[in-house]
Amino acid sequence: MAMTSHKFLPAAALCAAALCMAPLAVFGGGTTAMAATPDSPAITALVGGTVVAVDGGATVHNSTVLVSGERIVRIGPADSTPIPAGAKVIPMTGQWLIPGLMNMHVHLGLKLPGAAGDSLVTETDPEEALRMAGNARLSLLSGVTTLRLVGEDHGTDFALRSAIDRGEVIGPRIKTAGEVIIPTGGHGSMEADGPYGFAHVVREQIKSGADWIKIAISGGISDTHGSISAAPMTDEEMSVLIEVAHRNGIKVTAHNGSSEAARQALKFGIDGFEHGYHLDASILKDMKAKGVWLVPTIVVTQPGALEFYHKIGSPPWYLERVRITGADHWAMLQNAIRLGVNIALGTDQFPFEPNDGTTATVAEAELYVKAGMTPLQALQSATTQAAKMLAMDADVGSISVGKYADIVALDADPIKDIRALRTIHFVMKGGVVARDDRREIVAN
Ligand SMILES: [Zn+2]
Repeated sequence: MAMTSHKFLPAAALCAAALCMAPLAVFGGGTTAMAATPDSPAITALVGGTVVAVDGGATVHNSTVLVSGERIVRIGPADSTPIPAGAKVIPMTGQWLIPGLMNMHVHLGLKLPGAAGDSLVTETDPEEALRMAGNARLSLLSGVTTLRLVGEDHGTDFALRSAIDRGEVIGPRIKTAGEVIIPTGGHGSMEADGPYGFAHVVREQIKSGADWIKIAISGGISDTHGSISAAPMTDEEMSVLIEVAHRNGIKVTAHNGSSEAARQALKFGIDGFEHGYHLDASILKDMKAKGVWLVPTIVVTQPGALEFYHKIGSPPWYLERVRITGADHWAMLQNAIRLGVNIALGTDQFPFEPNDGTTATVAEAELYVKAGMTPLQALQSATTQAAKMLAMDADVGSISVGKYADIVALDADPIKDIRALRTIHFVMKGGVVARDDRREIVAN
């Protein structure tokens, strides 16, 4: 299956439906279309597509999906779902409609060792924020309508999240963990030591606007020092950090590849692990029992990423660490799937980064299927499961009445073959068409 070309639209073509469409009718439920009022939100009707039921409900073939303002107001068979007068109709015949994808491990300001990272050494925070805004836009256009940031610099993520929420910047919905909290010398940027040191930085991050807390409790592939399998935090530091976050209603996820560090974090109530490179079966069983999340980021250690590492000029020592980690990482993922651990999709690459002939987000889902998931389970890891992890399941994660109209269209059925995700050619976020490859310019 060939990937459709990325014909990204210029920003000027992106136009909020509510501002650009004449509000001619409001849909009142049932079969009655009510008269328009000057402030009625415009109605958009996606007509003729197959709505893929990622939440286990019934697939709706030849459907009509009505969107009013930001949200979905009705879904039904096209022949029994009237389209209100004046609605904007977007034909979807022959297309499969899935909820917008969710990528749960992203750094929009990513810098890695190598030539590309070296060129960003002198980057200022304002420059970084603008680079991140560009990456946010490309993420949305690639089909990712919600993402979780798990480590950015100096509050750039909070500024970007606000700008997107205000409609000043085009991008996905963002939940963010602020800076990565670490014991001094660890894999991240915000160092602390001792239980009160950790309590303080957690409170600072929450005060700045963090939706999550991200800590690094073992080393990383990109470190030049320290072992991925070490567990450098003390019990006191770990327990106080998690307690302070939980007392504020904030969940904690940990960059972790070490079973020893995982055992310690599980004891004190950690909510999730990122990567999980070397986690053994006993840890995975405990995660399953406690409902702890795994965000695998499997793409970063598999051969599809080599093209990327060569492009950014990764040094030989880095490529060697990727290779050594890759075999364990793959075995861990297969074990986690077999044991039924909660998995939410995340890439640790830009969501749109080319990987194995598609994007990193789609390649990640394909690898889950290769490692043992059904195509539906892989799709759920990027939709319903991610929404549940973020406690956003009332708003996103499926095409359902009442949720945001975050909708992606495909040329084929992803439940039959996950590679259908390679054909993403239409992206709507909150009722606004961000991309439609079938048109030169979005018409509204
Ligand atoms: Zn990361």
